[in-house]
Amino acid sequence: MNIIHVDVDAFFAAVEELDFPYLKGKPVIVGGGEDRGVVTTANYIARKYGVHSAMPGFKARRLCPNGCFRPVRIKRYQEVSRHIFEIFYQITSLVEPLSIDEAYLDVSDLDTDPVEVAKHLKKEVKKNTGLTVSVGVSYNKFIAKLASDWNKPDGLKVITKDEVPDILKPLPVRKVYGIGKKTSDSLNKKGIFTVADLLNLSNEYMYKTYGKFGLEIYERIRGIDDRKIKTESKRKSFGRETTFQNDINSKEEMKKYLDIFAKNISKGLNKRNIHAKTVTIKFKTSSFENHTKSKTLDRYIQSYDKIFAAAITILEDIEFKEPIRLIGLTVSNIKENQIYQLSLFDEEVYKGYEL
Ligand SMILES: [Mg+2]
Repeated sequence: MNIIHVDVDAFFAAVEELDFPYLKGKPVIVGGGEDRGVVTTANYIARKYGVHSAMPGFKARRLCPNGCFRPVRIKRYQEVSRHIFEIFYQITSLVEPLSIDEAYLDVSDLDTDPVEVAKHLKKEVKKNTGLTVSVGVSYNKFIAKLASDWNKPDGLKVITKDEVPDILKPLPVRKVYGIGKKTSDSLNKKGIFTVADLLNLSNEYMYKTYGKFGLEIYERIRGIDDRKIKTESKRKSFGRETTFQNDINSKEEMKKYLDIFAKNISKGLNKRNIHAKTVTIKFKTSSFENHTKSKTLDRYIQSYDKIFAAAITILEDIEFKEPIRLIGLTVSNIKENQIYQLSLFDEEVYKGYEL
């Protein structure tokens, strides 16, 4: 496998600098400007003051009183992210998005040398968005991610198979993918601070102490990581349906349900930035016969009124011979960009921020 891990440098802060050039050369802190806010990103200048992401705003303001605090503009970052991912997808379809600004690319099947691909990728992102990325190139996911972190910002690091595990030995255990604060604390208590220390532990011990996860770590620090690139599986349709308490036969009443369904479906599509082209009504008669009737439009839609209008057109064409006990509305034939499926894009994560 040839894996590239890409990570945009100080993404949110970099977008702020891009949009507001007067911020260049200043400590830029995104989020944390309000009383109870939390820092989401600090640029490299602000990091010199000790400011880092997830830090409470009041602390960041104390450490860096002349910092430029910017509100989180997630819509704008999503827009820039979309451009960056378009560049990834031009290189290969084997892209696994990890977050709004981070992804794995499996470039094993490309004719070009992976290091050349990485250089090209960096150049393209810079040219098209003005942003710098750090890229790691290696033979598996774990090592590639570690490599991209090696010399941030604007880094390009290659780690070959024969450099492992020596190159890993001096690293603190926390750097090993999967080892969080809890495990790292527990290891430190046992006097295990670096990967070199960790390499002394047998796989039996790792399994006894940490279970299956322990075995994964055992292999990972020896450079074994067979995880494949996970491209997001595309959802085929979105729908809502309801079974009535009493069978109905009035189209007016059915419309009320379709109206609610259309609103819900549109909200779901909107949240994931998905569009659909086919609208389907399904219904079940009092004698338990299932029917569907669809309409494929000439363009992709997402809004409530378009979905509802299509549903009404279909409904008008249906001749109900008996009352119905269930009605449903579905949209399918979906167009989406894979990155919008990530939970990171869920607005709940950014509650309280400017959207
Ligand atoms: Mg980043």
